[in-house]
This record gives sequence, structure tokens and C-alpha cells, in this order.
Amino acid sequence: MPLVNMRDMLNHAYQNGYAVGGFDLVSLDFLEAILSAAEARRAPVILSLAESHFEYYDFELAMSASEAAARRATVPVAIHLDHGASFESAVKAINLGCNGVMVDASHEAFAGNVGITQRIVHMARACGVPVEGELGYVAGVEGEDAEKHPGEVVYTSVEEAEAYVQQTGVDFLAVSIGTVHGRMKGEPALDFERLQMINERLGIPLVIHGGTGLSDDQFHKLISNGVSKINYYTALADAAGSRMRNNAAADGRCGYTGIVKGIQDDMRAEIQRCMELWGSAGQADAVLGAAEAWQPVQHVIIYNVNREDDALVAAMMHEGKRVLSGIPGVRRVITGTAVQGGAKYQYSWLIEFVHEKVIDSYRADPVHVDFADMLFRPIAGDRISIDYLES
Ligand SMILES: [Zn+2]
Repeated sequence: MPLVNMRDMLNHAYQNGYAVGGFDLVSLDFLEAILSAAEARRAPVILSLAESHFEYYDFELAMSASEAAARRATVPVAIHLDHGASFESAVKAINLGCNGVMVDASHEAFAGNVGITQRIVHMARACGVPVEGELGYVAGVEGEDAEKHPGEVVYTSVEEAEAYVQQTGVDFLAVSIGTVHGRMKGEPALDFERLQMINERLGIPLVIHGGTGLSDDQFHKLISNGVSKINYYTALADAAGSRMRNNAAADGRCGYTGIVKGIQDDMRAEIQRCMELWGSAGQADAVLGAAEAWQPVQHVIIYNVNREDDALVAAMMHEGKRVLSGIPGVRRVITGTAVQGGAKYQYSWLIEFVHEKVIDSYRADPVHVDFADMLFRPIAGDRISIDYLES
């Protein structure tokens, strides 16, 4: 069960002076390259899915693949929503299996950013999911074209960072100290003095977006000043793109598999280089020992109905599936009818929670309370309800 609590993972990195890569994936080639690199280097790793990339792939399908890959890994893995654009995005990501979410309200003024972030932190915390906030503005978007989306870099101020973390309760903070998303011309100048002050004031894992193009020395200085997560995408996309152009040039008639041949090898080499450079290589076993395993809980109800009205029961189940599956922290809702006619209990619910904490937040959620009071309990008098931790 190598999915682990991302808060524990990054706290381990923070306390032990290294950084974990948050590698954005846009296809199975990325996913396989990231995890095979992590296995080869015995490194903890974060699979990152950026909302700005959802136009290139189906988020739901990519989550299924990411989770399946994480579960069969032998190194600790977390799955993170990168640059979530809204409260609804964060809920959807958590319900699909992300165990870390980033709120990007950094385009808002301070008060607006705090308000949006507070709401998401409150919801995510009730699901056991840590939140990354961002303060200041890292120009560009996740991608290869930062120079086309320049904007203005807005540096994170020390005072605002302290107030923001206190008021929102975010677990990690993405700071803006001179990096940009995507490719850059030349080596960026980073404000390490500012970073050092932020780190001394906050004492929580810091995150850098726009890792592509930094020198080895810059990475070392970032990490020695509290950076525990580095978002990395553009260099991987460039490595893949370069291989694909070479493949196409070598054989003008090659098809899809001919064009993508070898891109995983090139991405894996770059990811492994980062893992060595950032110090996460070799930390897998220590993180597995220090981090909570990320385990779902099965909320099981078996019941009988007091009224022999099949249509009423079917309508109740249908409505339950619809409303309960939208509650934060609910992975899936399955209803059942006994195969054997004479079963002691004729009907079942299997509701999967992302984390043990959801047992309480689900019970208190107004959507659940309404459904249970108005539709379920009035007809399901005879029932048993138990929560099981997956083992
Ligand atoms: Zn970013």
C-alpha cells in the first residue's frame, strides 16, 4: 500500500533536508517514466495532475491509472491536484483519489486568496487531505510556453506569507521568489534572502513551481532554505518532444509508436537526475516508515425495508447515489440487493471514504443528514452500519 499521506511525506523531506519531485503527467508515458525512476532511485514521489492540462487528457481516467500505478509501487507515492482552480475542483480531485490538493487563488488580492483557501482547507482537512497554498505569483502556466505567458512575477512577501499561513492553515506554501513556469531565457535570479526569511518565519514545507532551468547550485540553496517539494514538468516535456522530433526526422513515415519510441527512457533519465540532485533518492524506506499509509474506509450498511415497495426503494437508492457521491471524501457509492431471496438483510450500501476522517465529516454533512432523515431511515428501520479500514 505505497500511497502515503502527503503531509507526512513532505514533513519528512522538510525535517531531513531534501525535496520530493512533484512531476506533472500528461500521459501514460509520463506516469510510467515517473514511477520507474522513483523505483530505480528508491525515492518518494508525487504524481501531479495540473488542472490546466485537463484539456489534453481525461482527468478521471488519468486518476484511475495513477492510483493503480501508485498502489503497485514499492516506493511511497502521493497523488496531487496541481493548480486547482476552484472549491469544486478540489472536491472532485479528492473524490477521485488525490491525497493532496493545491489551491491556486494567487491571482486574487490577499483577502480573496485567504477566503478561497480557508474554505478549501476546511473541506480538505475533514477528508485528511493536506493543502498547498500559493502566495505571490509565479508567471506562466504549466507548459512549454512560459515566454508566451509572461505576466509579472510577484514576489511573496514575508509578512503576507506569515499572515496567510496563520489564517488559512495550509500545510505547504508555494512561494514566488523569481522562478517562472515553463522555459526561461537564461538562468533566473532567485531571491534566497527572502526565501530564508519566509522559511524562518513559517517553519512549514515550502514549494517551488517552475523548477525547469535552475542550476544545481540553485536547487541546493532552495532545499537548504526549506523547499521540500519541487514542481517539475517542462524539462520532461522537452525531453520527450526532442526525442519525438528526432524519431520523426529519422523516419519520415513512422507512425505513433515509432514517434514516441524511447521518450520514457529520456524522461526517466531526467527524473532520476533530479531525484539524486534533490536528495530524495534513497529516502523511500525512511518515508514508508514515517508516513501514514493512505487507506480508504468502507462504510457498509446492510438493511431491510419496512415497506414492500420496490419502486420506492429503487428511487431512494438512486437518489442516495446521486447526492452522497458529491460529498467531499466519498470515493464511490454502491447499492446492492441480496442475491438470495431469503437473506437476513435484503439491501446494502457500500460507501467508500478516502480516509478515516471522512467517517465524521460525512455523518455531519448536511447532504447526508437530509438524505438519511428524509429518505433512508424512514423506510430502513432494521439496519447494521459498520466502517471498515481497508487491510
Ligand atoms: Zn505551478
